[in-house]
Parts: sequence; C-alpha cells; structure tokens
Amino acid sequence: MSREDYEVVIGLEVHSELSTKTKIFCSCPTEFGGEPNTHCCPVCMAMPGALPVLNEKVVEYAVKAGLATNCEISTDSKNDRKNYFYPDLPKSYQISQFDKPLCKGGYIDIETSRGKSRIGLTRIHIEEDAGKLNHDPYGRGSLVDLNRAGVPLIEIVSEPDLRSSEEVEAYLRKLKSILEYIEVSDCKMQEGSLRADVNVSIRPKGETKFGTRTEMKNMNSFRSIVRAIEYEVDRQISVVENGGKIEQETLRWDDVSGKTFSMRDKEDAQDYRYFPDPDLVAIKLSEEYIQNIKNSLPELPESRRKRYLEEYKLTEKEANLLTSSKYLSDLFENASKICGNMKAVSNWIMSDISRILNEKELEPDQIPFKADALAELISLIDKQTISNSIGKKVLEEMFEDASKMPSKIIEEKGWLQISDEGAIKDVVQKILKANSKSVEDYKSGKEKALGFLVGQAMKETKGKANPQMLNKMFIEEMNK
Ligand code: ADP
Ligand code: MG
Ligand code: ZN
Repeated sequence: MSREDYEVVIGLEVHSELSTKTKIFCSCPTEFGGEPNTHCCPVCMAMPGALPVLNEKVVEYAVKAGLATNCEISTDSKNDRKNYFYPDLPKSYQISQFDKPLCKGGYIDIETSRGKSRIGLTRIHIEEDAGKLNHDPYGRGSLVDLNRAGVPLIEIVSEPDLRSSEEVEAYLRKLKSILEYIEVSDCKMQEGSLRADVNVSIRPKGETKFGTRTEMKNMNSFRSIVRAIEYEVDRQISVVENGGKIEQETLRWDDVSGKTFSMRDKEDAQDYRYFPDPDLVAIKLSEEYIQNIKNSLPELPESRRKRYLEEYKLTEKEANLLTSSKYLSDLFENASKICGNMKAVSNWIMSDISRILNEKELEPDQIPFKADALAELISLIDKQTISNSIGKKVLEEMFEDASKMPSKIIEEKGWLQISDEGAIKDVVQKILKANSKSVEDYKSGKEKALGFLVGQAMKETKGKANPQMLNKMFIEEMNK
C-alpha cells in the first residue's frame, strides 16, 4: 500500500501556562526567568509539612478557557496526585486532576484546505508545572531550577479528531488565539507557555479501529510540530509496510537531525497511582459563579472577525488574518484609533509586517514595537513627511530597535522627504537630460515613460523625493 492508502490520526494534549501573578498552590511569583531558585518557597520546593492552598484565579482562568471552547463546566471537581519520579519534580508527585476535571466535552472549529471541521475536546484540567533541569554542557551533571515548579497550567486534551499536520497547525493556532483573547495565557511558545504532546497513529483508509499511537512530548513551535508529524507518519508507514508493528512509546523529536527517538515505553494511568490529594478540599462551583464568568468573557476571535467584516467593511482575507492573533488585532485596533487611518494600518499589517514576520520566523507576539509607533509611521506618510518607500525602510528599523520611534529613526538616518521645490526641480532636470529617449516616448503618447522617469528620480534621491511633486514637475517640464 502507498502513503495515500493510510489515514493519519492525531490527538493533542496542549499545556498552557496561565498568566496568574502567583503560583497554583503558593504565593510565589510566576514570572518567567529570574535567577534559578529565587521564585520558590517551602510549598513549591516540597518541604515536608508544607501545605498547598489552591489559587482561586487558576480556577477562574480554567473555567474561562472551558467556556470559550464550548466545554461543560463541572460544579464538582477535585485535585489528584499523579505519582512519578523525576528530578524536576520535588514532591515525586504532580498535583493534577484525574477523574473529575474542571471542564469536559468542548470543541473548536477549524478551517483548512479540506474545509471546515470540528475538533472535539475531551477535557481541560488544571495542574502544576514541574521545575526545569539545566544540563551542564560539559557533562558534569544537571542542576535543578524550581522557579517554574508550581506555575499553574491547564491541559487541554483533544479527541483523536485531527487528520493531518495542516489540521494540527490550524487547531493550535485557533486554540492559541482563543487563549490569548480571553487573556488567561500569553501563549509564548518560545518561553514554553504553550506546548503540545502530539499523539500520532495511522490506519488503512476505511478501517474504523484506531492504530497504536506514539507520543511526541513537549513540542513548542509550529514548524517543528509539522515536521515531526510528517516524519513520524512516514516512519510508522514504513514500519507497517515492512511487516513490523508500531510500539506504543514516548518519543523525543530532535529538530537538528529531523528525527524522532524513543524515550521510554508508554506508561499507563495505573503506573501513576492516581489518588485524591488529601491536602486539598474538593472544588465546588455554583451555577451562579460559572454564569458570572460567562458574562465576563471578552470578545472572542470569531465575533471580532464578524465585526471587522460588518462594521469595518474589511475583506474576508483582512478579517481572517487580523483576528488570527490577539496581538495583531490589538495592534490593528490601537494603531487605527491613534492615527485614524484604518485602511493604511490594515495594509501595513497585511503586507510588510506579515512579510517581515515570515522572513524572521517570528510570531505576532514577538513584534517588538507598540501600536503608537506604527500609528506614527502611518501619520508621517499621510503628512508626506516621508514617502511610502522610506516608510518601508523605517519599518525594518523598527523591527531591529523598538526603542526608537519612527520620527527619531528618520531624523537619525536623514530620511526626511525632499519637498523643496528647487531641490526637486534640480533632480527632475538631471533625470530629463539623462533620459531623452523616455522624454520622446512620453511626448509621443507613451504614458508609461512618466512612471519610469519618476522611478529614476526616486532612485537618485534614495527614495526621499516627494513623489507627487515629482510627478507634477515632470509633466510640467515635458509639456513646456
Ligand atoms: P495519556 O496520553 O495521558 O495516556 P489519553 O489516553 O487520554 O492520555 O490520550 C491522550 C491523547 O492521545 C488524546 O489527545 C487522544 O486524542 C490521543 N489519542 C488516543 N488514541 C489515539 C490514537 N490511536 N491515535 C492518535 N491519537 C490518539
Ligand atoms: Mg499523554
Ligand atoms: Zn512557592
């Protein structure tokens, strides 16, 4: 059988760090980074006798996430201990949720080249993050940093409803944008705030039973997730095609070699010896509490998209891209408010900003400048202080050094637009003299020649000449 005869089946377990100020069971800060072991206390370092107290904000954020993804919220939930041994886990158990998660049975709608599909969510539960191991590059051992231990997470478990790496990417992008919109997580993948365990299996098309899956742990970039899935599917198909059997195991994806490696056999739930954490009380939520959170939910991407289409009269393409990330959409709205030129803001985001993000392989949350800087750039072009083409160069600079506003960059680089009549006239005359053929063409009715001459003058002035003035003066001079 060939690759086309197999169906790919994927389910994701996504971990998202919640942006509460303090940890899930103590009052240590959740802030990323910091000197190792400075955001710790007896509770998150697992000192004997230290007792956890559940952070109420964590419950609120998880309920928000559940409501925004169409889940049913449990009024009766609890925390359980998941027992395993690993040096980054000081208690030797992780406080998580087993049989009574906070949220159950939601879904997320996605759109891909295959059309629209609905991806089911099995559950969303709350749990604590583990610490971080720093491996000494010279092999002298590993050091444990517990700053991250006890940072609150939600785990969002999908049904095995995904059928390709394209669907996985669309699902993750949608989920990420929902979590950003409701402001429960900053979803910075490069900081590990959003990471996914990717479960992959294959089966012959038409087969209704699932195949044995493998699980790739802790993936945190779209690019590596897509590559890893493609690799793993190929690997599984060739194992089966060669008469082998897929082993259920946990794999590690290596971005450098582009391969997966076996980490360990898969453990079953029973290996974790789950039991209710006796140090914590049950989580009982009233209907009124849930309703209040529902009422407080901010605008979600789907409704913002509709608003962009109906109120702002943006195109389908603009509305989709601008609302695909809260960071982009906030940049769009805030910059429009400041400079008053919504169409221009949309154009800049759709074209040059998207292009630079692509080239630099950055996500929208990594755009270094703020809305006021983009607004200023657009105002400077609107006021003809700089030309559009200089504007593009200013934008490149803004990506390099966000501490400088566009006006400062223009001043430092000497990029002010030339609008002095005498100076423009000098350039026009120089270009006319050097291009007599084009002048002939223009006079014989070839309008295109004008564009060429203006282009030459722009080149001569390194893009600084005022293009409207150039146009006008070329026509005047040639009609003399
Ligand atoms: P765990 O990995 O913690 O044991 P589960 O058994 O609930 O948890 O499954 C975890 C994930 O694996 C879910 O997202 C689920 O959709 C996915 N999954 C389960 N079976 C398969 C399969 N045969 N192929 C691909 N994904 C699967
Ligand atoms: Mg798993
Ligand atoms: Zn602590």
